[in-house]
Amino acid sequence: MTLYVYRHLDEDPACQKAPTFRWEQPPYDWPLTKCPWCQGPVERQLEPAMLKVKKFDCELRDQGFTKLVRVDEGVFENRTRRLGEEKYVDRHRPETFPHLEKTIED
Ligand SMILES: [Zn+2]
Repeated sequence: MTLYVYRHLDEDPACQKAPTFRWEQPPYDWPLTKCPWCQGPVERQLEPAMLKVKKFDCELRDQGFTKLVRVDEGVFENRTRRLGEEKYVDRHRPETFPHLEKTIED
């Protein structure tokens, strides 16, 4: 099953799911043409929603991104931690910051 994003084609759809909603279906299924809720015309967006919502942290890291998730006031978990980096980044402790200069060099 793949999670797709559908968009209402009506200018101002009277639908609780407007303007877009997610719909799970097998990739080989025909795209919906009608909204399951309001029956209004819809169009499937080209990109499966999975790509947007589910990007694994290791993929991000491999692509050169750094992802910090806030765990407390001024404290962030480094989800793309590389070798030698701290797991938690503290705003007040520069030594815990991700090693960007090393990443860029790579
Ligand atoms: Zn609808």
